[in-house]
Amino acid sequence: MTAPLDSLLADADLCVKCGLCSPHCPTYRQTSDENESPRGRIALIQGWAAGRLPLTAALREPLDDCLLCRNCEAVCPAKVPYGNLMDRFRAETGQRQKSLAARAMSSALRKALRSPALSSLGRRALDAAAQLPGGSAWKHLPPAGNPEDWYGDHPAAGESLSHVGLFLGCTAAVADAATVSAILELLPRLGVSVTVPKNQACCGAMDLHAGDAATAHGLMSRNIEAFAGQPLDAVIGFASGCSATLMEYRHPADTAGAESLSAKVQDIGRFLAERIPAERWALAPLRARILVHNPCSLRNVCKSEGKVEVLLGRIPEAEVITLPGKGRCCGAAGSYMIEHRRMAEAIRTETVEAILAAAPDYLVTSNIGCALHLRAGLQGRADIPVIHPVQLLARLQRV
Ligand code: SF4
Ligand code: SF4
Repeated sequence: MTAPLDSLLADADLCVKCGLCSPHCPTYRQTSDENESPRGRIALIQGWAAGRLPLTAALREPLDDCLLCRNCEAVCPAKVPYGNLMDRFRAETGQRQKSLAARAMSSALRKALRSPALSSLGRRALDAAAQLPGGSAWKHLPPAGNPEDWYGDHPAAGESLSHVGLFLGCTAAVADAATVSAILELLPRLGVSVTVPKNQACCGAMDLHAGDAATAHGLMSRNIEAFAGQPLDAVIGFASGCSATLMEYRHPADTAGAESLSAKVQDIGRFLAERIPAERWALAPLRARILVHNPCSLRNVCKSEGKVEVLLGRIPEAEVITLPGKGRCCGAAGSYMIEHRRMAEAIRTETVEAILAAAPDYLVTSNIGCALHLRAGLQGRADIPVIHPVQLLARLQRV
C-alpha cells in the first residue's frame, strides 16, 4: 500500500462505527441507506484503501452523494477528520468511475466561475446551467458586479481601528455583488480599512471537493501570494464556504504560506461581532422579524454560529430568531445543488418548510450558495428577501 493510502486508512480506522453521526447526516435522513451515512461512507473508503473493494461506479456513487456538510464531524466522539478524509479520497481517485455527464458539468462550472470574464462568460454559463434540470438556483441572478470597481484600498473614514483584506471568491461578481458593495460601504464607516487584492483567485473548494488537488493547489498559491506581505489584521470572507476552505488551507509545497493565510481568515460575521465596539454602531430601528440561517460551513468549520444573531441583535426593534432545526443542512453545498439536483432539492424541503413556518420579513444567510438554493426553494411560495446579513446592516447604519 502507498503512503497516502496508509494515512487514509489510519484516519478511516479512527471510526468506531458508533453511528452517533447518522441522524445528523442529510443524505442518511433522506434515504435510510447505510451506504449514504457517514459510517457507511467511511467503511467504503476503508474497503477501497485496504484493497478489499474495487473502485466501481457503485462504490463511487454514495461517496459522491456526500455534501461535505461535516455535520458528522461536528458530533463525532472519535474525532474522525471526515472532511479531510473525503477530500483525500477524492484526490486519490480523481474523476475515475464518474459519469461523463457528471465530469462535464463539474468541469464546465468550475471553469466558468474562474474565468477572468466573470460577469459575462460566467453568467452566460450559469444561465445555461439554469436551463438544465437542477439549474433553478441560478435563475434570476441579481445584477453582476465588476471586480475592477472593488480592487485596491478603501480607507477607513476617520481613525482606523483595523486593516483587513477582503476575499472575494469566484461567485462574488456573478451572484453577490450587492454584498461586496455593502461591505465596502459599511466597513470604512465603522473605522475599518479594507484592501481588495487584485491577483486573488477562487478559494479552490470546488476543485478540492471534485478531486482536482493540482488545480486547487494552484489557486491556493495565488491567494497565499495575494494576501502575503501586507500588514493585514485579518482576511475577511463573506461566503462561509470560501472562508471555511481558506481556514483549512494545506499546500504540499508551501505549508508555511498556507498556515499563515489560514490563521488570518475570519468570516465577516465573527469579525464584526467581536472587533467592532458597540459605540461604533448607529443602526436605525427596523420593526421586522429576521430569521438567521447558519450555513453548515459557518457552524462546522468557521465555528461562528450565533455571531450573526449577536450582530443583528444590535438593530433596535428587530426581532432576531434562529432557523429551527439545529444542524440542518439546506442541501446547497456549492455546486452540489446542480450536480445532485434531486438530493439537493429533497434535503432543502425541510428547511423551506421551517422558513415558511417562521414567517420572517427577512431571511439572512452568510453563504451565497445557500442563499441561491433557498431563494429557488421559496420561489412561488413566499416573497421573503434572502440576503447576506451585512446588506441589512449597511442599509441601517446611519454614520
Ligand atoms: S459530510 Fe454531511 S453528507 Fe457527508 S457523510 Fe457527513 S453528514 Fe453526511
Ligand atoms: S460518530 Fe464518528 S466514530 Fe461514530 S460512526 Fe460516526 S464517524 Fe464513526
